Amino acid sequence: MTIGVLALQGDVREHVAAFCDLGEDVTLVRRPEDLEGVDGIVLPGGESTTVSMLLDSSGLFDPLDAALAAGLPAFGTCAGMILLATEVLDGRSDQRRFGVIDLTVRRNGYGRQRASFECDLDVPGLGGPPGVPLHAVFIRAPVVEAVGGGVEVVARLPTGGGLAATGPVVDGEPTGPVVAARQGSVLATAFHPELTADRRLHRRFVEMVKERAGERRS
Ligand code: GLN
Repeated sequence: MTIGVLALQGDVREHVAAFCDLGEDVTLVRRPEDLEGVDGIVLPGGESTTVSMLLDSSGLFDPLDAALAAGLPAFGTCAGMILLATEVLDGRSDQRRFGVIDLTVRRNGYGRQRASFECDLDVPGLGGPPGVPLHAVFIRAPVVEAVGGGVEVVARLPTGGGLAATGPVVDGEPTGPVVAARQGSVLATAFHPELTADRRLHRRFVEMVKERAGERRS
């Protein structure tokens, strides 16, 4: 099984290191032919407008779009989340996206003063030692403003503590905005899990890729 990391711009090396830590084979994807033999693809953080332009100029956009539409598992972090989302607010008018996870995201939506921040997230669904939070680094992150019905929420920002509480009210309680989500074989985070040593999200993606490979064999 081989994980491809889109290597046009952004924090490519950190994602490669994360999958190497987990003992997985990783390859860099820069040209259409690099997609051959890739079982899952990572879209790293960086600048979604720049990556969108580079996807066009490298000829990668259309073949990657077709592969994603055919079910290639994908993991997008920050700018990668923006590229995978169905709707992008405050983007450039010519910015392209793949639309494979039903999220509406607002670029740089945490505003100037919070353009970068860190916090601990509660992630009971990710496994690992119970009660151990996931430390998350947000860098000019997108805000998830709407989540489609088929999307599983993996993590939300905690409410209070000075962080934005813009999520919906659930059972009478305010919730923080969604910062990690999954739909089918697509996983997306508004933050940068590759910048910390916690590998739970990368491990989750590897499991998703294995599940998908198993489905295709049977
Ligand atoms: N603000 C960037 C964008 O719009 C994303 C930032 C990041 O990936 N750290 O693409």
